Amino acid sequence: MFMKKLEIIFIGVVLVALLFLGNNYYSSYSFKNSDIPDSYKQRILNKEQEVLQHMQKNYGYAYKFPLIITDKFKGRLYGLTSFENGEIKIYLNKKVMQESMDYMLDSVIAHEYAHALLFKQGYLHTKDDGHSKLWQQTCIKLGGIDCQQYVDQQEVIMAKMPFQ
Ligand SMILES: [Zn+2]
Repeated sequence: MFMKKLEIIFIGVVLVALLFLGNNYYSSYSFKNSDIPDSYKQRILNKEQEVLQHMQKNYGYAYKFPLIITDKFKGRLYGLTSFENGEIKIYLNKKVMQESMDYMLDSVIAHEYAHALLFKQGYLHTKDDGHSKLWQQTCIKLGGIDCQQYVDQQEVIMAKMPFQ
């Protein structure tokens, strides 16, 4: 009787483990092979709304930039902002999203939005790499948590996107 009970518990544990593994496999499979999960999209949209609310409060307008999630990034950049013929776009790297979603939300979206907003305001970064004092202040005003001026990334692109 005692063995029977242990056996049942064991089978239960194995089943739970299998379900967990299966679910894990399913979510990383579906992540790689299709669009990003709706829950991620929702979190990104919510964060963008937050950034826009900060913009409204601090600048008196809320300008929404195209936010494009793509897996065509080369390397490990989290995101980048491009300015081409007056068109400003923000790209987020889908490939690092699953492992770095919190960083993406807390830091990257406001970081890139600050670049985009400065482009919009006519600062075209001809004399710096984009991470000026003004950029930092903008990033903070947009609610960015990690507005480091000294980032070792070149993610302000003033030309055609390298992967298009
Ligand atoms: Zn930057």
